[in-house]
Amino acid sequence: MGVQISPWAHMIRQSNMRIIPLGGLGEVGRNMMLLEWQGKILICDMGFRLPEEDMPGIDYIVPNISCLKGKEKNILGIVFTHGHYDHIGAIPYLIEKIWHPNLRIFASPLTRGIILKREEDFSNLPKLEIEEVKDGSRIKLGPFKIEFFKINHNIPDNLGLFIETPVGNILHTSDFKFDQNPVNDLPTNFQRLKSLAKRKILLLLSDSTGAEEKGHSLSEKTIEKNLEEIFRQASGRIIAATFASLINRIQQIITLAEKYGRKVSLEGYSMKTNVEISKILGYIRSKKGTLINGREVLDYPDSRITILCTGAQGEGSAVLMRVAIKEHPFIRLKKGDSVILSSSVIPGNERTVQMLKDDILRQGAKVFHYKMMDIHAGGHAQQEELKEMIRIMRPKFFLPIHGQYSMLAAHAQAAKEMGCIAEKNVLVAENGQIINLSPKRIFLEKKTVASNYVMVDGLGIGDVGEIVLRDRHMLARDGMFVIVAVVDRKTGQVKGSPDIISRGFVYLRESKELLRETRKKVIEIVNRAAGSGGAVNWSYIKDEIRNKLGQFLFSKTKRRPMILPVIIEV
Ligand SMILES: [Zn+2]
Repeated sequence: MGVQISPWAHMIRQSNMRIIPLGGLGEVGRNMMLLEWQGKILICDMGFRLPEEDMPGIDYIVPNISCLKGKEKNILGIVFTHGHYDHIGAIPYLIEKIWHPNLRIFASPLTRGIILKREEDFSNLPKLEIEEVKDGSRIKLGPFKIEFFKINHNIPDNLGLFIETPVGNILHTSDFKFDQNPVNDLPTNFQRLKSLAKRKILLLLSDSTGAEEKGHSLSEKTIEKNLEEIFRQASGRIIAATFASLINRIQQIITLAEKYGRKVSLEGYSMKTNVEISKILGYIRSKKGTLINGREVLDYPDSRITILCTGAQGEGSAVLMRVAIKEHPFIRLKKGDSVILSSSVIPGNERTVQMLKDDILRQGAKVFHYKMMDIHAGGHAQQEELKEMIRIMRPKFFLPIHGQYSMLAAHAQAAKEMGCIAEKNVLVAENGQIINLSPKRIFLEKKTVASNYVMVDGLGIGDVGEIVLRDRHMLARDGMFVIVAVVDRKTGQVKGSPDIISRGFVYLRESKELLRETRKKVIEIVNRAAGSGGAVNWSYIKDEIRNKLGQFLFSKTKRRPMILPVIIEV
């Protein structure tokens, strides 16, 4: 009973479908889902999410795939819905763990291009063969027959999944919105959606990111109008920050820049590579001469410059942040600049974005963000569209996916209120839960699988745990204090004066007295404990140093630095 693990026990006799979200249910980002039938596994998406504000030094958080351990051979394939990093970003960190020569991978042309381009940065990984699929493509992976269908979002080439399974048809919407006036894309094909619905949907999995927003999401055309207003009025440079994967927004800004006689400089590695791929595949168009490079922005008057960059979420290493804190090599903010933050703030990043805005404003630039103007339509369906999707699909069972718990709950509530799905057939599930689906019933199994955060720190994956994070908090708050004492092995006495290295705690030169007393204390502790001869318990002595010195430093400074005693016997 209760928790833990082996969701796979008895799987051979299991005739129901199991759906296991490993990420994206209860959070925005890190989308990954397993479908399992009689031990055969299909994976849908492998995304990452950005760290929360209280995770110093963490680059990304990826799904925990420990439940796949020992089942690698049973994984038939991976299907990707679209090229956003919260759907593909974890591949380089996870693929090695599950890859085998028969693993098949499917993605649309743009999604494939973005995945493969990113893979170039990870030369140690197995070379991925990704099969291209598009609207109408059908593939068969063991018990899963998948038909891909085009659906609008804010990146081109987004595909929903119609999955025929032995228990019935499952429809996965991918991230979506209905858009009659998209940019560089065809309007939503409702006829096609209705024809899929005719084949009977047992379970609808639908994007919940916009479920707390009333009404209808904005068309990309509306956003373009609002962006144009900024271009019309700006006399200085326009600096537009967005996600590198918001290909549609990037296109809109390039188009507007051309209309208003501005050059466009792309700043940020991911921005450059994504635009490059999208241009090759024809998803981004620009006139010859529009795009300029790096320092070329200095060759034109401000009124002719647009800088398109990453960092609208206040990401520490992204271009906009470096500009805002004056660390960018050649872009400095000034009066007359218009800075556009064109992406909605991911839950958890609000405070960072606020500080970013303040920094920009202090330097005299104007800031436009989505709360002031509709310059970011989420790419996500809002309540009326979500209901429309349910009305079209008329599923027997409904499971909201993609979003914080409150979004999933709002989506479920909306579905119940519509009255076309029985209340007991609407389920809210979270990461790690096992959804059991049969033609008659949907329910959560009592067992769960591990779905906790796996943190990526530089190139290390999963080697940063809670303890490391706690250390970083301590270091960030009160700094650290290293004491190196050399001890004579024969006498057990400290030789000379212990060395002290301190970072982020006190300025050493101005704390001579404090340091002198600290050294004295260390010598006392060591000499008292070790000086009497016999076996010396060094770990006890180190603990003593940590505790006594901790109290001492706190009494003097009201800070608790991390204390690292190093004892060298000579
Ligand atoms: Zn997306």
